[in-house]
Amino acid sequence: MDSSEFRKRGKEMVDYIADYMETINLRRVTPDVEPGYLRDILPKKAPKKGEEFDEIMHDVDKAIMPGITHWQHSHFHAYFPAGNSYPSILGDMLSDAIGCVGFSWAASPACTELETVVLDWLGKMIGLPKVFMHEEEIGGGVIQGSASECVLVTLLAAREVAIKQLKNSFPFIDEGVLLTKLVAYSSKLAHSCVEKAGMLGFVKMRQLEVDDNYSLRGYTLERAIEEDRRLGLIPFYVCATLGTTACCSFDNIAEIGEVCSKENVWLHVDAAYAGNALICPEFQYLLKGVEMVTSININPNKWMLLNFDCSVMWYHWGIPLSRRFRSLKLWFVIRSYGVEGLQSYIRQHIRLAKLFETYVKNDARFEVMGKVTMGLGPNTLTQKLLHMINESGKLHMVPALINEYYVIRFAICTQNAEEADIEYAWRVISAEASELWSARAS
Ligand code: PLP
Repeated sequence: MDSSEFRKRGKEMVDYIADYMETINLRRVTPDVEPGYLRDILPKKAPKKGEEFDEIMHDVDKAIMPGITHWQHSHFHAYFPAGNSYPSILGDMLSDAIGCVGFSWAASPACTELETVVLDWLGKMIGLPKVFMHEEEIGGGVIQGSASECVLVTLLAAREVAIKQLKNSFPFIDEGVLLTKLVAYSSKLAHSCVEKAGMLGFVKMRQLEVDDNYSLRGYTLERAIEEDRRLGLIPFYVCATLGTTACCSFDNIAEIGEVCSKENVWLHVDAAYAGNALICPEFQYLLKGVEMVTSININPNKWMLLNFDCSVMWYHWGIPLSRRFRSLKLWFVIRSYGVEGLQSYIRQHIRLAKLFETYVKNDARFEVMGKVTMGLGPNTLTQKLLHMINESGKLHMVPALINEYYVIRFAICTQNAEEADIEYAWRVISAEASELWSARAS
């Protein structure tokens, strides 16, 4: 493809994208296909000769679009919001075109410097202390590919610090032996990536009980650390969560931070989803104790209108050498919406989650589990009800297990969510529930 064809196809693609976004609600939210559908349609081998772009786009419509779950659909209430916005798409387009690989300042000064500037902006927006800022020349944020990567990187960094300190005290004991003594902690509601990080880092990971609000408390951690020290183990890392995946509960950072400071333990905060809401001052109370936090991650690609991938971590550098110019889209989005625009987007989602909560509370067939603080709220319904709703293709939600309860999560996801979407969702849920109830009665 030469540049004159690229101009033509690029403009067509922008139209295709805008049409897709504008008409997305005319589609089923989930695809109506069976596993393996695509393999049956596509050729078994790659084409020998290049094909016409029109043919490729024809197959996008015929083969790809029918197998898409439309995360940007107004009736998508599963998982979490998959950030998306036109400024972000444009930022990524430009980043792809520049195509630099920013592994050092010299490899592309703007790529390196913009990331430090924008992450200082974002750090200030969510209320992080100065120690996390690049401009202070001691800390600084860095963009990673995923929250899982952030958690792994911080666990490995904490492991390195712990082993170095132990080596100073016990220079003749092998690192491998010291490693067997290390123990890390999270709540039992932490994301599975925390357990995975423990496995990848070859350290023991203890999952601790939560209180009635599904929150990990300082006293629970303190007791676990005491027990483990008595057994000769060495606590070195805690991953607390702000906004658990199952029910958006919040660990008590101030209490956990005190224990970690006293015990010389690295405290990481995984705020993948909820951390974005910290741009609204009314939620910054959740960060009480942040001065005792060693590192923190949030995913703007979940809830700040940023397209995947854009996971932000303060502080520690990452695993890959090559890095994309991801700060460009973050810069585009923050500048296009302004802090106030982003705050009103978050507040609108939270307002709608509260509205959904009132529907659930006013219907005796349902129960709300946990507190609805942000845009994610859980409720207990049956597995069958969820299956019926998802099968209908009218709405999409996913389940979670909270203390052995099977619950349905309802997440506010779409960028321009409004009351009518919540009313529609409740009508669908309520009608399916009535059908299920009458089928059970008969
Ligand atoms: N942490 C929390 C609290 C999450 O909710 C999620 C994903 O839902 C993750 C981590 C994993 O995020 P990622 O897919 O970016 O690795």
